[in-house]
Amino acid sequence: MADIRLFEKDPYAPIRYVYEIDQVLYRGKSAFQEFAVVTNPYFGRMLVLDGVVQFTERDEFYYHEMMAHVALHAMESPRTVVVIGGGDGGVIREVLKHPTVEKAYLVDIDTEVSRVSREFFPTVGSALSDPRLVDSPMDGAAFLDGFDGTADAVLVDSTDIVGHARSLFTPEFYESARRVLGDRGLFVTLSESLHFHLPMVREVQKTLKKAFKTADLYTAPLATYAGNWWCFAVGSNGADIRKPARKPVTPTRYYCAEVHQTCFLPRFLYDRVMEEGRESL
Ligand code: SAM
Repeated sequence: MADIRLFEKDPYAPIRYVYEIDQVLYRGKSAFQEFAVVTNPYFGRMLVLDGVVQFTERDEFYYHEMMAHVALHAMESPRTVVVIGGGDGGVIREVLKHPTVEKAYLVDIDTEVSRVSREFFPTVGSALSDPRLVDSPMDGAAFLDGFDGTADAVLVDSTDIVGHARSLFTPEFYESARRVLGDRGLFVTLSESLHFHLPMVREVQKTLKKAFKTADLYTAPLATYAGNWWCFAVGSNGADIRKPARKPVTPTRYYCAEVHQTCFLPRFLYDRVMEEGRESL
């Protein structure tokens, strides 16, 4: 058998992951990015965009559950949720486990991501045909800017902070999210790794604090994201994301009440993150 390897091109990490590849199931290109669907003996199928692993069959649930459930469980009855990026449907699948959710907007710039997910990752894309889903393929910043409704949560499941995803990490974008969310809504966005990207994690916190009343940070263990100690940044106008408001939805594989209580940084670590000039914890 040919010895095929994927050398991942992570835009910011000081290390490179190399994956053994059993099969290349798909290669393609859209107007926005290059696609590959490959299989690895341990991780199973993997979605690779522009040379960067987005998720794998084996560990996708850690990321998708943690992106959706922490904010949504901090509310009694979330009804309207906006997912920006996330065209694969993994976060939407988790959002739609909340029975009170009536409408979930999916705002990915690239419709090809959902098509590839439906074909190659049916368990990730399993909720993409749910009638509560409103598919709105466009740039997430332009969507929020023109959105005249309100939402209970805005969840940003984008690619890393480069290229098309840059528009999702600006003060203007956070300001649009704050406006859409009102007093009780919560905003969550990916925020890279505490090991490798501390200045970036701090920058996102500082920018969020300018738009929202408070900002916070929680983490999840992800095998395939360089640095592994992966961050989710939160913006809030008043709701306390640290306090679950109800029992966890089922089924989940990682998220639960104990994880909710322990996923936030202890105060001394948060203070270190925010120390100006610090490069690592
Ligand atoms: N969780 C994954 C990670 O961090 O590696 C990301 C998964 S998801 C596939 C990322 C999605 O963000 C892609 O489908 C991409 O098309 C979308 N995206 C990037 N920039 C965007 C933008 N400005 N507006 C909407 N979607 C965007």
